[in-house]
Amino acid sequence: MNQFICTACGTQYPASSTPPKICTICEEERQYVNPNGQAWTTLEELIQSQQYENNILLEEENLYSINTSPSFGIGQTAYLVKGKDYNLLWDCITFIDENTKEKIAQLGGINAIALSHPHYYSAQIEWAEAFGVPIYIHEDDQEWIMNPSDRIILWSGETLVLNEGLTIHRLGGHFKGGAVLHWEAGNEGKGVLLTGDIIQVVADRKWVSFMYSYPNLIPLPAKKVREMADKVKPLSFNRIYNAFHKIVKEDANHSVQLSADRYIKAIQGEWFQT
Ligand SMILES: [Zn+2]
Ligand SMILES: [Zn+2]
Repeated sequence: MNQFICTACGTQYPASSTPPKICTICEEERQYVNPNGQAWTTLEELIQSQQYENNILLEEENLYSINTSPSFGIGQTAYLVKGKDYNLLWDCITFIDENTKEKIAQLGGINAIALSHPHYYSAQIEWAEAFGVPIYIHEDDQEWIMNPSDRIILWSGETLVLNEGLTIHRLGGHFKGGAVLHWEAGNEGKGVLLTGDIIQVVADRKWVSFMYSYPNLIPLPAKKVREMADKVKPLSFNRIYNAFHKIVKEDANHSVQLSADRYIKAIQGEWFQT
């Protein structure tokens, strides 16, 4: 029996003797099946290959990024946020080995895991089991949990306070339960938003975007984008970290508002002539 992992998206499935027929996450229109065909691996195989390692980098005081090298699956970054006697793993990656566990233990371990959306559920159960912690997922995305576990706590409503100064906000958009993490103490108390793919930092780091599908370039409706920007407007933050190690370093709330305005004008055909 193996817990097979899809090599394209990094999602781990429950133990089975043969690989699943399809990867539900990749078959869905927001992702894509590898043009070379569906392929599977296991965490044991990844570790034994000795090809992969996790890099843990200090991004700013009390914030570390965790990323696998070479890139595996979607290639996202997870973040360890150190709150007051409470360490949160924001989003998750597939690869985890003894070296990673030791390094994270040296940083004080993990008290909980919270996810922005299903593309980063990856091998979250491996991480939760390694540190004996719960996983917080919005109930609206329950159907995308491929590997069920008692570790998973479904939350509902629009906000969830995980700890003092660490609150998740449901914005929806890319996924119905799509959530961002507001870290009040981040960036020397000016506030940080960790957004996964829910608010996407784009190539020009002064701007962000909002999509239903990033790989397949499917936009969101104007009404939804306005709603998402309105939801973060009252939050105090001036920096955003996305899931790909891209950062809006300052004035990030203003960037979100300007970006929402530009996006809405663009999809309504009011901004440029074609
Ligand atoms: Zn997949
Ligand atoms: Zn995504």
